Amino acid sequence: MQIWVVLEGDDHGLRESSREILTAAGTVTGGVLAVAILLAPNKEDLVKEIMEFGPQTIYLTDEWPQSATGEDFAEFLGELIERESPGLVLAAETLFGRGLLTKTALRYRMPFFPDCISISLGQESLLFEHLCYGERLSAFLTSAPKRPVLATWRVGLVNVKKRSGLNSNVQKLHTPSQRSNLIRFLEEIKADPRTVDLSEAEVIVAGGGGMGSAAGFQLIYELAELIGAAVGGSKLARDNGWIPLTRQIGQTGKLVAPSVIISCGISGATQHTFGMRDAKKIIAINKDKNAPIFKIADAGIVGDVQEVLPELIKRIWEGKENAKPMGA
Ligand SMILES: Cc1cc2nc3c(=O)[nH]c(=O)nc-3n(C[C@H](O)[C@H](O)[C@H](O)COP(=O)(O)OP(=O)(O)OC[C@H]3O[C@@H](n4cnc5c(N)ncnc54)[C@H](O)[C@@H]3O)c2cc1C
Repeated sequence: MQIWVVLEGDDHGLRESSREILTAAGTVTGGVLAVAILLAPNKEDLVKEIMEFGPQTIYLTDEWPQSATGEDFAEFLGELIERESPGLVLAAETLFGRGLLTKTALRYRMPFFPDCISISLGQESLLFEHLCYGERLSAFLTSAPKRPVLATWRVGLVNVKKRSGLNSNVQKLHTPSQRSNLIRFLEEIKADPRTVDLSEAEVIVAGGGGMGSAAGFQLIYELAELIGAAVGGSKLARDNGWIPLTRQIGQTGKLVAPSVIISCGISGATQHTFGMRDAKKIIAINKDKNAPIFKIADAGIVGDVQEVLPELIKRIWEGKENAKPMGA
């Protein structure tokens, strides 16, 4: 059984979710991972890291033009799969992974099992475990013995494990010169940070129980507006009605991957931090110097949010005023 995994990475490295599926894929067949695909050109550090998981082959592509759409990626992947017919193609259950495999499955009429929590090799075919009925029941699904099968693996369930002493063969694939005509790229419009889907936000200001009240939580909105960030929060903030469910970060909320997240009055419970594992920089403000959030923060301020945030907002305003061009 040949297993392929489709990875996500950028200049900062591989996504944590991609490290997880590289590890998970190895568990399905007792260690053999045939191909890792990165829809990006050769970036030395990325390739070095992928090799540490021991895929036999790594496929890289040329640089994709800015106008490439999800349809183009799906068409490229679908044709590659049809040509080489692997047994299973895996991606992480992320916005990108789910979107790509859904499009590929629909377009190329391939069976697709989204959001699996485990995949194992049964007697004749693969078994896909999927939670249903509000996650109270496990369903074990199996596909007709048709190949290839696509699946996404839920993020956060696997402890990343690298392997050593393995060499991968790196192959470069050319991206198609013709673009899909189903969707046409017209222009890129920057998303409004106040309404952007949290999982796509570049900068997030998040508030938790430490904000004290709905009125106190307004400081989060004020800071976010000032720096063009999206607003998020903990489950407690949601339970208190300060944010809607779509703004809750964590295990039962959104998975976010911003460049910067400013966590204010959030303790750092694992169910919450699970949702922000892919954040590149974490700045925490909490009055308790022993709060768990400081263990994962890149920078921290020990203090009362009702004092720190107004001061921070004031200083940013002052900075903006001073940065105004002469005569403005
Ligand atoms: C099955 C399950 C799923 C869950 N899913 C999620 C989830 O998806 N997302 C999530 O967030 N939680 C989730 N939780 C809840 C989680 O365990 C925590 O209870 C929750 O994250 C706590 O939110 P909090 O840190 O905002 O509040 P608290 O635990 O109340 O922490 C408040 C923090 O603010 C600090 N503070 C208080 N006052 C101030 C002040 N004036 N200035 C500065 N700091 C102050 C305190 O020191 C404390 O650290 C889940 C729990 C379970 C059991």
